[in-house]
Amino acid sequence: MTTTSQNQVSKNDELFERAQKTTPGGVNSPVRAFRSVGGTPRFITRAEGPYFWDADDKRYIDYIGSWGPAIVGHAHPVVVKAVQEAAARGLSFGAPTEGEILMAEEICRLVPSIEQVRLVSSGTEATMSALRLARGATGRDKIIKFEGCYHGHADSLLVKAGSGLLTFGNPTSAGVPEDFVKHTLVLDYNNVAQLEQAFAEFGDEIACVIVEPVAGNMNLIKATEAFLQAMRTLCTKHGSVLIFDEVMCGFRVALGGAQELYGIKPDLTALGKVIGGGLPVAAFGGSAELMSKMAPLGAVYQAGTLSGNPVAVAAGMTTLKIIQQPGFYEQLSATAARLAAGLTKAAKDAGIVFCADAVGGMFGLYFSETPPNNYAEMMAGDRARFNVFFHAMLDEGVYFAPAAFEAGFVSAQHSDAVIDETIAAAARVFKKLAA
Ligand code: PLP
Repeated sequence: MTTTSQNQVSKNDELFERAQKTTPGGVNSPVRAFRSVGGTPRFITRAEGPYFWDADDKRYIDYIGSWGPAIVGHAHPVVVKAVQEAAARGLSFGAPTEGEILMAEEICRLVPSIEQVRLVSSGTEATMSALRLARGATGRDKIIKFEGCYHGHADSLLVKAGSGLLTFGNPTSAGVPEDFVKHTLVLDYNNVAQLEQAFAEFGDEIACVIVEPVAGNMNLIKATEAFLQAMRTLCTKHGSVLIFDEVMCGFRVALGGAQELYGIKPDLTALGKVIGGGLPVAAFGGSAELMSKMAPLGAVYQAGTLSGNPVAVAAGMTTLKIIQQPGFYEQLSATAARLAAGLTKAAKDAGIVFCADAVGGMFGLYFSETPPNNYAEMMAGDRARFNVFFHAMLDEGVYFAPAAFEAGFVSAQHSDAVIDETIAAAARVFKKLAA
Protein backbone atom coordinates (compact mmCIF):
# COMPACT_ATOMS: atom_id res chain seq x y z
CA MET A 1 0.00 0.00 0.00
CA THR A 2 1.28 3.46 -0.84
CA THR A 3 0.23 6.51 1.14
CA THR A 4 -0.41 10.08 0.11
CA SER A 5 1.50 13.04 1.52
CA GLN A 6 -1.26 13.35 4.17
CA ASN A 7 -0.47 9.74 5.17
CA GLN A 8 -3.78 8.43 3.93
CA VAL A 9 -4.07 5.21 1.95
CA SER A 10 -3.80 6.10 -1.73
CA LYS A 11 -7.08 6.19 -3.63
CA ASN A 12 -5.17 4.62 -6.56
CA ASP A 13 -4.50 1.54 -4.40
CA GLU A 14 -8.16 1.33 -3.40
CA LEU A 15 -9.32 1.63 -6.98
CA PHE A 16 -6.79 -0.91 -8.23
CA GLU A 17 -7.89 -3.44 -5.63
CA ARG A 18 -11.53 -2.85 -6.56
CA ALA A 19 -10.85 -3.01 -10.31
CA GLN A 20 -9.15 -6.39 -10.03
CA LYS A 21 -12.36 -7.93 -8.70
CA THR A 22 -14.32 -7.32 -11.90
CA THR A 23 -11.68 -6.75 -14.60
CA PRO A 24 -8.80 -9.13 -15.41
CA GLY A 25 -5.68 -7.58 -13.89
CA GLY A 26 -7.71 -4.47 -13.09
CA VAL A 27 -7.18 -2.90 -16.52
CA ASN A 28 -8.68 -2.88 -20.00
CA SER A 29 -5.34 -2.93 -21.82
CA PRO A 30 -2.35 -4.79 -20.32
CA VAL A 31 0.39 -2.12 -20.31
CA ARG A 32 -1.76 0.08 -18.05
CA ALA A 33 -1.29 -2.44 -15.20
CA PHE A 34 2.35 -1.38 -14.49
CA ARG A 35 3.43 -5.07 -14.62
CA SER A 36 6.65 -4.13 -16.38
CA VAL A 37 7.68 -1.46 -13.86
CA GLY A 38 5.89 -2.76 -10.75
CA GLY A 39 3.69 -0.74 -8.38
CA THR A 40 0.15 0.56 -8.55
CA PRO A 41 -1.26 2.06 -11.74
CA ARG A 42 -2.49 5.61 -11.44
CA PHE A 43 -6.23 6.01 -12.01
CA ILE A 44 -6.80 9.19 -13.97
CA THR A 45 -9.64 11.52 -13.13
CA ARG A 46 -9.09 14.41 -15.55
CA ALA A 47 -6.64 15.90 -18.02
CA GLU A 48 -5.89 19.30 -19.48
CA GLY A 49 -3.15 20.45 -21.88
CA PRO A 50 0.09 18.58 -21.03
CA TYR A 51 -1.15 17.36 -17.63
CA PHE A 52 -3.36 14.74 -16.05
CA TRP A 53 -4.38 14.16 -12.44
CA ASP A 54 -4.76 10.87 -10.59
CA ALA A 55 -7.32 9.74 -8.02
CA ASP A 56 -5.22 11.33 -5.22
CA ASP A 57 -5.36 14.60 -7.16
CA LYS A 58 -1.63 14.44 -7.88
CA ARG A 59 -0.71 16.23 -11.11
CA TYR A 60 1.58 14.64 -13.69
CA ILE A 61 3.21 15.99 -16.83
CA ASP A 62 1.89 13.40 -19.26
CA TYR A 63 4.26 11.92 -21.83
CA ILE A 64 2.03 9.17 -23.14
CA GLY A 65 -0.81 11.37 -24.45
CA SER A 66 -3.21 8.40 -24.46
CA TRP A 67 -0.45 6.48 -26.33
CA GLY A 68 -0.37 8.99 -29.14
CA PRO A 69 -3.76 10.56 -29.86
CA ALA A 70 -3.45 13.64 -27.60
CA ILE A 71 -1.21 15.56 -30.03
CA VAL A 72 -2.98 18.90 -29.53
CA GLY A 73 -3.01 18.47 -25.75
CA HIS A 74 -5.73 17.08 -23.51
CA ALA A 75 -9.25 18.49 -23.59
CA HIS A 76 -8.42 21.06 -26.28
CA PRO A 77 -11.38 23.47 -26.09
CA VAL A 78 -11.99 23.49 -29.87
CA VAL A 79 -12.03 19.67 -30.02
CA VAL A 80 -14.25 19.40 -26.95
CA LYS A 81 -16.71 21.90 -28.46
CA ALA A 82 -16.86 19.97 -31.75
CA VAL A 83 -17.52 16.74 -29.85
CA GLN A 84 -20.25 18.34 -27.74
CA GLU A 85 -21.97 19.75 -30.82
CA ALA A 86 -21.76 16.43 -32.68
CA ALA A 87 -23.07 14.50 -29.65
CA ALA A 88 -26.04 16.83 -29.41
CA ARG A 89 -26.97 15.91 -33.01
CA GLY A 90 -26.98 12.17 -32.24
CA LEU A 91 -24.40 9.60 -31.20
CA SER A 92 -24.52 7.05 -34.01
CA PHE A 93 -26.69 6.45 -37.06
CA GLY A 94 -25.46 3.31 -38.84
CA ALA A 95 -25.95 5.26 -42.08
CA PRO A 96 -23.45 7.46 -43.94
CA THR A 97 -22.75 11.10 -43.01
CA GLU A 98 -21.06 14.02 -44.73
CA GLY A 99 -18.54 14.13 -41.85
CA GLU A 100 -17.11 10.81 -43.05
CA ILE A 101 -16.62 12.21 -46.56
CA LEU A 102 -14.85 15.28 -45.19
CA MET A 103 -12.57 13.08 -43.10
CA ALA A 104 -11.77 10.78 -46.05
CA GLU A 105 -11.08 13.81 -48.27
CA GLU A 106 -8.75 15.26 -45.64
CA ILE A 107 -6.81 12.00 -45.19
CA CYS A 108 -6.46 11.52 -48.97
CA ARG A 109 -5.18 15.08 -49.30
CA LEU A 110 -2.64 14.77 -46.48
CA VAL A 111 -1.21 11.25 -46.88
CA PRO A 112 0.77 10.96 -50.13
CA SER A 113 -0.09 7.33 -50.99
CA ILE A 114 -3.79 7.30 -50.13
CA GLU A 115 -6.42 7.77 -52.86
CA GLN A 116 -9.22 5.96 -51.04
CA VAL A 117 -9.66 5.20 -47.37
CA ARG A 118 -11.97 3.16 -45.16
CA LEU A 119 -12.67 4.32 -41.60
CA VAL A 120 -12.65 1.78 -38.76
CA SER A 121 -12.59 2.08 -34.97
CA SER A 122 -9.17 0.80 -33.85
CA GLY A 123 -5.63 0.36 -35.12
CA THR A 124 -6.06 -3.39 -34.77
CA GLU A 125 -8.99 -3.32 -37.18
CA ALA A 126 -7.02 -1.16 -39.59
CA THR A 127 -4.00 -3.49 -39.82
CA MET A 128 -6.12 -6.65 -39.76
CA SER A 129 -8.23 -5.35 -42.65
CA ALA A 130 -5.18 -4.15 -44.60
CA LEU A 131 -3.70 -7.63 -44.24
CA ARG A 132 -6.90 -9.25 -45.49
CA LEU A 133 -6.96 -6.87 -48.45
CA ALA A 134 -3.33 -7.67 -49.28
CA ARG A 135 -4.06 -11.38 -49.15
CA GLY A 136 -7.30 -11.00 -51.12
CA ALA A 137 -5.63 -8.88 -53.79
CA THR A 138 -2.61 -11.15 -54.28
CA GLY A 139 -4.25 -14.53 -53.64
CA ARG A 140 -1.26 -15.33 -51.37
CA ASP A 141 -1.16 -16.24 -47.65
CA LYS A 142 2.38 -15.54 -46.43
CA ILE A 143 3.26 -12.24 -44.78
CA ILE A 144 6.46 -10.65 -43.47
CA LYS A 145 6.62 -8.65 -40.24
CA PHE A 146 9.53 -7.51 -38.09
CA GLU A 147 10.51 -8.52 -34.56
CA GLY A 148 9.48 -5.85 -32.05
CA CYS A 149 6.93 -4.12 -34.29
CA TYR A 150 3.40 -4.19 -32.87
CA HIS A 151 0.45 -4.01 -35.22
CA GLY A 152 -2.46 -4.64 -32.85
CA HIS A 153 -3.75 -8.02 -31.77
CA ALA A 154 -5.04 -9.76 -34.90
CA ASP A 155 -4.08 -13.46 -34.83
CA SER A 156 -1.67 -13.36 -37.80
CA LEU A 157 0.29 -10.52 -36.18
CA LEU A 158 0.75 -11.85 -32.63
CA VAL A 159 3.87 -13.64 -33.73
CA LYS A 160 7.54 -13.65 -32.78
CA ALA A 161 10.50 -15.03 -34.70
CA GLY A 162 10.83 -18.79 -35.04
CA SER A 163 13.96 -20.68 -34.00
CA GLY A 164 15.72 -20.55 -37.37
CA LEU A 165 16.62 -17.53 -39.46
CA LEU A 166 13.97 -17.98 -42.13
CA THR A 167 11.52 -20.22 -40.30
CA PHE A 168 7.94 -19.09 -39.83
CA GLY A 169 6.97 -17.62 -36.45
CA ASN A 170 5.64 -18.68 -33.05
CA PRO A 171 2.52 -17.19 -31.41
CA THR A 172 3.08 -14.55 -28.71
CA SER A 173 -0.34 -15.25 -27.22
CA ALA A 174 -2.18 -18.34 -26.13
CA GLY A 175 -5.24 -18.91 -28.29
CA VAL A 176 -3.51 -18.05 -31.56
CA PRO A 177 -3.62 -21.18 -33.76
CA GLU A 178 -0.31 -22.43 -35.18
CA ASP A 179 -2.20 -22.67 -38.45
CA PHE A 180 -2.46 -18.85 -38.54
CA VAL A 181 1.10 -17.99 -37.62
CA LYS A 182 2.65 -20.55 -39.90
CA HIS A 183 2.14 -17.98 -42.66
CA THR A 184 3.95 -15.17 -40.82
CA LEU A 185 7.69 -14.75 -41.36
CA VAL A 186 9.31 -12.59 -38.66
CA LEU A 187 12.56 -10.81 -39.60
CA ASP A 188 14.97 -8.42 -37.87
CA TYR A 189 14.18 -4.71 -38.16
CA ASN A 190 16.72 -2.73 -40.21
CA ASN A 191 18.29 -5.91 -41.67
CA VAL A 192 18.33 -5.51 -45.47
CA ALA A 193 20.28 -8.72 -46.14
CA GLN A 194 17.73 -10.84 -44.30
CA LEU A 195 14.87 -9.21 -46.17
CA GLU A 196 16.58 -9.91 -49.49
CA GLN A 197 17.16 -13.51 -48.45
CA ALA A 198 13.49 -13.95 -47.48
CA PHE A 199 12.32 -12.61 -50.85
CA ALA A 200 14.86 -14.76 -52.69
CA GLU A 201 13.41 -17.84 -50.99
CA PHE A 202 9.67 -17.06 -50.74
CA GLY A 203 9.22 -13.94 -52.92
CA ASP A 204 6.36 -15.08 -55.09
CA GLU A 205 4.40 -16.42 -52.10
CA ILE A 206 4.55 -13.20 -50.05
CA ALA A 207 1.21 -11.34 -49.90
CA CYS A 208 2.62 -8.37 -48.01
CA VAL A 209 5.28 -6.83 -45.84
CA ILE A 210 3.93 -4.89 -42.85
CA VAL A 211 6.21 -2.49 -40.98
CA GLU A 212 6.16 0.40 -38.54
CA PRO A 213 8.32 2.79 -40.64
CA VAL A 214 9.23 4.55 -37.40
CA ALA A 215 8.93 1.88 -34.72
CA GLY A 216 7.32 2.96 -31.46
CA ASN A 217 6.59 -0.35 -29.80
CA MET A 218 10.18 -1.37 -29.06
CA ASN A 219 10.97 2.01 -27.58
CA LEU A 220 11.60 4.42 -30.48
CA ILE A 221 13.62 2.95 -33.34
CA LYS A 222 14.14 4.70 -36.66
CA ALA A 223 14.15 2.63 -39.82
CA THR A 224 17.14 3.27 -42.06
CA GLU A 225 16.25 4.67 -45.47
CA ALA A 226 17.99 1.68 -47.08
CA PHE A 227 15.76 -0.74 -45.15
CA LEU A 228 12.49 0.91 -46.23
CA GLN A 229 13.77 1.42 -49.78
CA ALA A 230 14.75 -2.27 -50.06
CA MET A 231 11.26 -3.21 -48.88
CA ARG A 232 9.68 -0.98 -51.51
CA THR A 233 11.87 -2.38 -54.30
CA LEU A 234 11.38 -6.04 -53.32
CA CYS A 235 7.60 -5.72 -52.91
CA THR A 236 7.29 -4.10 -56.35
CA LYS A 237 9.53 -6.74 -57.94
CA HIS A 238 7.61 -9.67 -56.45
CA GLY A 239 4.07 -8.28 -56.67
CA SER A 240 3.73 -8.09 -52.85
CA VAL A 241 1.80 -5.33 -51.08
CA LEU A 242 3.83 -2.96 -48.89
CA ILE A 243 1.85 -1.92 -45.80
CA PHE A 244 3.09 0.96 -43.67
CA ASP A 245 1.53 0.71 -40.23
CA GLU A 246 1.38 4.40 -39.39
CA VAL A 247 -1.15 3.96 -36.59
CA MET A 248 1.41 5.50 -34.25
CA CYS A 249 3.75 7.52 -36.48
CA GLY A 250 1.10 8.84 -38.90
CA PHE A 251 0.44 12.58 -38.30
CA ARG A 252 2.99 12.25 -35.48
CA VAL A 253 6.44 12.32 -37.11
CA ALA A 254 5.27 14.71 -39.86
CA LEU A 255 1.93 15.88 -41.29
CA GLY A 256 2.15 13.26 -44.06
CA GLY A 257 3.57 10.63 -41.69
CA ALA A 258 6.73 8.55 -42.09
CA GLN A 259 6.06 8.11 -45.81
CA GLU A 260 6.42 11.86 -46.29
CA LEU A 261 9.51 11.95 -44.07
CA TYR A 262 11.27 9.14 -45.98
CA GLY A 263 9.76 9.88 -49.41
CA ILE A 264 8.65 6.25 -49.84
CA LYS A 265 5.16 5.31 -51.01
CA PRO A 266 3.60 2.19 -49.49
CA ASP A 267 0.71 0.39 -51.23
CA LEU A 268 -1.46 0.48 -48.11
CA THR A 269 -1.30 2.59 -44.96
CA ALA A 270 -2.90 1.90 -41.59
CA LEU A 271 -3.75 4.97 -39.48
CA GLY A 272 -5.19 5.46 -35.99
CA LYS A 273 -4.51 7.37 -32.78
CA VAL A 274 -4.10 11.04 -33.92
CA ILE A 275 -6.88 10.77 -36.53
CA GLY A 276 -9.41 10.12 -33.75
CA GLY A 277 -8.13 12.95 -31.55
CA GLY A 278 -8.84 10.75 -28.49
CA LEU A 279 -11.97 9.01 -29.74
CA PRO A 280 -12.04 5.68 -31.61
CA VAL A 281 -11.20 6.39 -35.25
CA ALA A 282 -8.66 4.47 -37.31
CA ALA A 283 -8.37 3.90 -41.06
CA PHE A 284 -6.65 2.05 -43.84
CA GLY A 285 -6.18 3.23 -47.38
CA GLY A 286 -4.19 3.09 -50.59
CA SER A 287 -4.67 3.32 -54.33
CA ALA A 288 -8.24 3.44 -55.65
CA GLU A 289 -7.48 0.27 -57.60
CA LEU A 290 -6.46 -1.71 -54.52
CA MET A 291 -9.23 -0.27 -52.33
CA SER A 292 -11.84 -1.17 -54.96
CA LYS A 293 -11.32 -4.79 -53.96
CA MET A 294 -13.09 -4.02 -50.65
CA ALA A 295 -16.77 -4.85 -50.10
CA PRO A 296 -19.25 -3.62 -51.29
CA LEU A 297 -17.31 -3.18 -54.57
CA GLY A 298 -15.01 -6.17 -54.28
CA ALA A 299 -14.70 -9.56 -52.64
CA VAL A 300 -12.70 -8.60 -49.52
CA TYR A 301 -15.14 -8.28 -46.61
CA GLN A 302 -14.84 -5.76 -43.80
CA ALA A 303 -17.46 -3.83 -41.81
CA GLY A 304 -18.17 -2.03 -38.51
CA THR A 305 -21.30 -0.94 -36.58
CA LEU A 306 -19.51 2.17 -35.26
CA SER A 307 -17.16 2.78 -38.22
CA GLY A 308 -17.10 6.50 -39.06
CA ASN A 309 -18.99 7.31 -35.86
CA PRO A 310 -20.12 10.96 -36.09
CA VAL A 311 -18.86 12.05 -32.66
CA ALA A 312 -15.49 10.35 -33.14
CA VAL A 313 -15.15 11.82 -36.63
CA ALA A 314 -15.87 15.30 -35.23
CA ALA A 315 -12.99 14.89 -32.74
CA GLY A 316 -10.70 13.53 -35.46
CA MET A 317 -11.52 16.16 -38.09
CA THR A 318 -11.07 19.00 -35.63
CA THR A 319 -7.72 17.56 -34.55
CA LEU A 320 -6.61 17.22 -38.20
CA LYS A 321 -7.46 20.91 -38.73
CA ILE A 322 -5.46 22.06 -35.70
CA ILE A 323 -2.33 20.12 -36.69
CA GLN A 324 -2.33 21.89 -40.06
CA GLN A 325 -1.81 25.29 -38.49
CA PRO A 326 1.45 26.86 -39.72
CA GLY A 327 4.47 25.82 -37.69
CA PHE A 328 2.68 23.05 -35.81
CA TYR A 329 5.20 20.29 -36.62
CA GLU A 330 8.20 22.59 -36.33
CA GLN A 331 7.14 23.40 -32.77
CA LEU A 332 6.24 19.79 -31.92
CA SER A 333 9.59 18.52 -33.21
CA ALA A 334 11.50 21.26 -31.38
CA THR A 335 9.69 20.31 -28.16
CA ALA A 336 10.57 16.60 -28.42
CA ALA A 337 14.15 17.44 -29.44
CA ARG A 338 14.51 19.83 -26.47
CA LEU A 339 13.35 17.07 -24.13
CA ALA A 340 15.68 14.44 -25.66
CA ALA A 341 18.72 16.76 -25.57
CA GLY A 342 17.96 17.99 -22.04
CA LEU A 343 17.54 14.49 -20.60
CA THR A 344 20.69 13.25 -22.35
CA LYS A 345 22.73 16.13 -20.91
CA ALA A 346 21.28 15.71 -17.42
CA ALA A 347 22.23 12.00 -17.46
CA LYS A 348 25.72 12.76 -18.78
CA ASP A 349 26.26 15.36 -16.06
CA ALA A 350 25.36 12.71 -13.47
CA GLY A 351 27.55 10.04 -15.12
CA ILE A 352 24.61 7.79 -16.06
CA VAL A 353 24.72 5.66 -19.23
CA PHE A 354 21.69 7.02 -21.06
CA CYS A 355 20.65 8.67 -24.30
CA ALA A 356 17.42 9.89 -25.86
CA ASP A 357 16.23 10.49 -29.40
CA ALA A 358 13.21 12.07 -31.10
CA VAL A 359 11.42 12.05 -34.45
CA GLY A 360 8.71 14.69 -34.83
CA GLY A 361 6.55 14.47 -31.69
CA MET A 362 7.78 11.00 -30.66
CA PHE A 363 10.76 10.28 -28.45
CA GLY A 364 12.71 7.35 -27.00
CA LEU A 365 14.60 7.03 -23.70
CA TYR A 366 17.41 4.46 -23.63
CA PHE A 367 19.58 3.28 -20.79
CA SER A 368 22.36 2.47 -23.26
CA GLU A 369 25.23 4.39 -24.91
CA THR A 370 23.48 4.73 -28.28
CA PRO A 371 19.90 4.33 -29.55
CA PRO A 372 19.06 0.75 -30.59
CA ASN A 373 18.56 -0.29 -34.22
CA ASN A 374 16.49 -3.41 -33.65
CA TYR A 375 14.63 -5.44 -31.05
CA ALA A 376 17.68 -7.35 -29.73
CA GLU A 377 19.61 -4.11 -29.18
CA MET A 378 16.60 -2.57 -27.44
CA MET A 379 16.33 -5.60 -25.13
CA ALA A 380 20.02 -5.23 -24.22
CA GLY A 381 19.33 -1.83 -22.56
CA ASP A 382 19.27 -1.60 -18.75
CA ARG A 383 15.59 -2.19 -18.04
CA ALA A 384 16.02 -2.50 -14.27
CA ARG A 385 17.47 1.01 -14.24
CA PHE A 386 14.61 2.29 -16.40
CA ASN A 387 12.13 0.94 -13.84
CA VAL A 388 13.83 2.82 -10.97
CA PHE A 389 13.97 5.96 -13.14
CA PHE A 390 10.29 5.59 -14.07
CA HIS A 391 9.12 5.46 -10.43
CA ALA A 392 11.39 8.28 -9.31
CA MET A 393 10.03 10.46 -12.14
CA LEU A 394 6.49 9.49 -11.20
CA ASP A 395 7.19 10.72 -7.65
CA GLU A 396 8.43 13.95 -9.24
CA GLY A 397 5.11 14.30 -11.08
CA VAL A 398 6.29 13.17 -14.51
CA TYR A 399 4.46 10.29 -16.20
CA PHE A 400 6.52 8.42 -18.80
CA ALA A 401 5.28 5.20 -20.42
CA PRO A 402 5.20 2.47 -17.75
CA ALA A 403 7.47 0.11 -19.73
CA ALA A 404 10.96 0.38 -21.21
CA PHE A 405 9.59 -0.89 -24.55
CA GLU A 406 7.46 2.12 -25.40
CA ALA A 407 8.02 5.40 -27.19
CA GLY A 408 6.93 8.66 -25.55
CA PHE A 409 4.86 11.52 -26.96
CA VAL A 410 4.74 15.28 -26.57
CA SER A 411 1.81 17.51 -27.43
CA ALA A 412 1.54 21.06 -28.71
CA GLN A 413 0.75 22.08 -25.12
CA HIS A 414 4.13 20.91 -23.76
CA SER A 415 5.69 24.36 -23.49
CA ASP A 416 9.43 24.97 -23.04
CA ALA A 417 8.70 25.61 -19.34
CA VAL A 418 7.04 22.19 -19.01
CA ILE A 419 9.96 20.50 -20.76
CA ASP A 420 12.49 22.34 -18.59
CA GLU A 421 10.57 21.33 -15.44
CA THR A 422 10.83 17.71 -16.64
CA ILE A 423 14.56 18.01 -17.31
CA ALA A 424 15.16 19.56 -13.86
CA ALA A 425 13.27 16.65 -12.25
CA ALA A 426 15.28 14.14 -14.29
CA ALA A 427 18.55 15.82 -13.26
CA ARG A 428 17.61 15.22 -9.59
CA VAL A 429 16.66 11.61 -10.35
CA PHE A 430 19.82 10.85 -12.36
CA LYS A 431 21.94 12.22 -9.48
CA LYS A 432 20.16 9.86 -7.09
CA LEU A 433 20.64 6.95 -9.50
CA ALA A 434 24.35 7.70 -9.67
CA ALA A 435 24.78 7.87 -5.88
N1 PLP B 1 -0.26 -0.45 -34.90
C1 PLP B 1 0.59 0.26 -34.13
C2 PLP B 1 1.88 0.74 -34.73
C3 PLP B 1 0.28 0.56 -32.82
O1 PLP B 1 1.15 1.26 -32.07
C4 PLP B 1 -0.96 0.11 -32.28
C5 PLP B 1 -1.31 0.39 -30.89
O2 PLP B 1 -0.56 0.85 -30.09
C6 PLP B 1 -1.81 -0.63 -33.12
C7 PLP B 1 -1.44 -0.88 -34.42
C8 PLP B 1 -3.12 -1.11 -32.59
O3 PLP B 1 -3.99 -0.03 -32.41
P1 PLP B 1 -5.22 -0.14 -31.40
O4 PLP B 1 -4.65 -0.24 -30.03
O5 PLP B 1 -6.01 1.10 -31.65
O6 PLP B 1 -5.97 -1.39 -31.78
